[in-house]
Amino acid sequence: MKRTPRNEKPVVIAGGGIGGLACALGLAQRGFRVTVLEQAHEFGELGAGIQLGPNAFHVFDALGIGKLVKKDAVLIERLLMMDGVSGEKVIDIPIDARFRSRFGNPYAVTHRADIHGALLEGCRSIGLVDLRTDSRVTGFHSEADGVAVELGGGVRIVAAALVGADGLRSAVREQIVGDGEPPASGHMCYRAVLSLDDMPKDMRWPAATLWAGPNTHIVHYPLRGWKLFNLVATVVRDATMSGHNEEAPPEEVLPLFAKNCAKPMSIMRVPKVFRRWMLRYRPPVANWTQGNVTLLGDAAHPMLQYMAQGACMAMEDAVCLAVTADEADGDFAAAFGRYQALRLVRTARVQLSAVMMGHMFHADGIARLVRNEIYSDHTPQSYNEALDWIYRAPDYIVAANLKAPKRKSPAGRKRAGAPGSRAKAKKRTVAKHRR
Ligand SMILES: Cc1cc2nc3c(=O)[nH]c(=O)nc-3n(C[C@H](O)[C@H](O)[C@H](O)COP(=O)(O)OP(=O)(O)OC[C@H]3O[C@@H](n4cnc5c(N)ncnc54)[C@H](O)[C@@H]3O)c2cc1C
Repeated sequence: MKRTPRNEKPVVIAGGGIGGLACALGLAQRGFRVTVLEQAHEFGELGAGIQLGPNAFHVFDALGIGKLVKKDAVLIERLLMMDGVSGEKVIDIPIDARFRSRFGNPYAVTHRADIHGALLEGCRSIGLVDLRTDSRVTGFHSEADGVAVELGGGVRIVAAALVGADGLRSAVREQIVGDGEPPASGHMCYRAVLSLDDMPKDMRWPAATLWAGPNTHIVHYPLRGWKLFNLVATVVRDATMSGHNEEAPPEEVLPLFAKNCAKPMSIMRVPKVFRRWMLRYRPPVANWTQGNVTLLGDAAHPMLQYMAQGACMAMEDAVCLAVTADEADGDFAAAFGRYQALRLVRTARVQLSAVMMGHMFHADGIARLVRNEIYSDHTPQSYNEALDWIYRAPDYIVAANLKAPKRKSPAGRKRAGAPGSRAKAKKRTVAKHRR
């Protein structure tokens, strides 16, 4: 359906990954014209799995693709952390009716291409998103009534605003924050996707499972209607090493995980080849906005994947940015200031929490035993309480989901940085939509 856009010049989004496409869809749903510039020859995602906390599903619901994503996802039954040395269970969080009703959505695992595909389909069908490939953004130049977005070969696009959703090595970030190449963390990931037949029979658990071993951890979970299993094994190595999706043979990988017991090693022995990735990390920064130019997702707040929240945060950013642009009625500098204020502490908390989780996963010697004891008296209830801050939808996400039934938050609790009460936020957004 052809719609009349609210903005004459487009909002340009650099990067058509999960964050960039979610942002394009959220803005277009509010009547903004958007151009997505993707450097690759085609829009796509890595052939690997991803975990999605309930907070990701709140975003999908707000973007109107919740049902589509759930259709392809595997709704797992537990989150497990096992001791890689002894094989004992350390953490067991049931993803049961109580979990789902507390957080309003499930925890699921899915293929990255399925989420990316759902977002791409949403952008294609809405009619206000111009999707361009082979378009690498190299920088920008602020102008009196907009921003000139620079592409290779001297090409410029004059935009109402620019969102840098261009990932870890963001060109837009370089101009706003200027902190250079993201440093290698020294944490090396080895990834593989296994077929169901190759997965050891006694390890086909309906769980997202993490084996915490000395200096290593191994994660596996089912994918694509149980046809596949995702495997990500991480080891703390040398920060001078590099890795960006190269092949790594088992002879390189297996000795690094040798302190783990037989069960996790039975999975590690399956792949004939792994893909090697050096994780890169930046600590939080206090500003990622410059007038009508801002950042989103990994460009703004890259994180280690140990909270399984990088993509979830990128998508929350996207909806928050769309809501604030709507509320500021296209005054993008005001909207981006508000967006950053709403997102800064939450995303920094996830970045820092992920670093701490890394220490906890990789504990060795007496520290490992202390870790296991700390978790020994937790209950599903106490885990759920500890996860509240991350899995409950922030007010601006609830406000964005106009079809959602109102849910009660715990007595009198207000989320830090929220634009007001949930009811107020919803009323404000609803009023805008009625205009
Ligand atoms: C091993 C591993 C496991 C993970 N597991 C999870 C998980 O379970 N759950 C979770 O939520 N997150 C997870 N993450 C994190 C998640 O993958 C990222 O946080 C997320 O993909 C970030 O999305 P993004 O859109 O911000 O950036 P990206 O996905 O990096 O997308 C950036 C896009 O911009 C394009 N681009 C780059 N530069 C330019 C330019 N100059 N001009 C134009 N286009 C450009 C790129 O080609 C790309 O398409 C994991 C990460 C890793 C490494």
